[in-house]
Amino acid sequence: MQKVILKRKIAPRIANGHPWVFGNEVDKTDENIQPGDIVEVQTHDQKFLGKGYFNPQSQIVVRLLTRDKQDEVNEAFFQKRLQECWNYRQKLGYTENCRLVFGEADYMPQLIIDKFNDYFVLQTLTLGMDKWKPAIVKALQTIFSPKGIYERNDVPVRELEGLPQVKGFLSEPFDTKIIIEENGLKFHVDLDQGQKTGYFLDQRDNRRAIQHFVKGADVLGAFTYTGTFEIHAAHYGAKSVLGLDISANAVEQANRNAALNGLENIVRFEVANAFDVLKQWSREGRQYDVVMLDPPAFTKSRETIQKAITGYKEINLRGMKLVKPGGFLVTSSCTNLVNADLFLQTIDMAAKDARRRIRQVTFQAQASDHPIIRGLDMTQYLKFLIVQVL
Ligand code: SAH
Repeated sequence: MQKVILKRKIAPRIANGHPWVFGNEVDKTDENIQPGDIVEVQTHDQKFLGKGYFNPQSQIVVRLLTRDKQDEVNEAFFQKRLQECWNYRQKLGYTENCRLVFGEADYMPQLIIDKFNDYFVLQTLTLGMDKWKPAIVKALQTIFSPKGIYERNDVPVRELEGLPQVKGFLSEPFDTKIIIEENGLKFHVDLDQGQKTGYFLDQRDNRRAIQHFVKGADVLGAFTYTGTFEIHAAHYGAKSVLGLDISANAVEQANRNAALNGLENIVRFEVANAFDVLKQWSREGRQYDVVMLDPPAFTKSRETIQKAITGYKEINLRGMKLVKPGGFLVTSSCTNLVNADLFLQTIDMAAKDARRRIRQVTFQAQASDHPIIRGLDMTQYLKFLIVQVL
């Protein structure tokens, strides 16, 4: 097998569990390794560290798939891995919908597979993983006999790997507009046009966390996408719910989701820029019992972390001002680079500027089908905070 040999100081990081090898960490490589090939990674003194896929065009030249020398990376390997992923989710109680494969956290770097009951949506974000797409599809067919498999590889990061952005069927064509159930509610999911894989499974448990204090409440939600949190609020007994999103498509689908659950008299969605509207409404002195915020990732690069923090501070400051004394703010951040400490500090700054005291009710991460490998920062991305605003 082709080999990649690391510089002396690098090996401990990889040996301690990190699956990525950066270009500047490599001492030498065998000649003739082709992009996408499986390689063996060794320490400077040629001790085995693992096997992974190679791409010299990426800053990350190898991503490890296994640390077991006996493992052959082939069709059977992917079949076994996907079965293990499914076993893990089943152990945690997942039956219908779940993130079946969460990349690095499942030792399957840059592979995402979401299971929506009998339908599967897949992303292979690197060349090395993309090459195994037929094996992955075959494994899904064998384990699940699915009604459909769809590829949502229309993501810009693929271009860093020299891959095109594509989406389409990886099974016989099927109707990509499906309905899923979550926490006893129904949601339209558009696997072809929806954001990312079509639905944010990571907030499942967090959506349940609002159930008690929304009873009888007037609720405002911003960055609502297809309205999941807001429809949960209505279901849990809110008096009125207004949801805002900048995307007309999202708002249209959110209103359809409200109707699908018979909650259209309680919850409605409107197109608005949350930054503008929250500012204006707090000036006008509007007040809600509960305000919920779930903005998109504000940055993907270290250079612009400060901008992301400013964004979080601004939106949470506005949000807090709109909460009646004793009411609740429900706030999320999915920006990977803004870690939990930084996010909490930002919320504290917002509270200070809003001249409000806040009392933490709960602080959570993503649901357990998106496991977190301790020490592997890229697997820990979602921050979900509920505070009482005094
Ligand atoms: N809460 C949702 C996910 C929200 S994703 C869920 O649980 O499914 C973030 C949403 O923010 C997207 O739908 C995007 O259209 C919206 N968005 C981005 N910028 C916005 C802005 N300035 N004002 C309002 N919505 C915005």
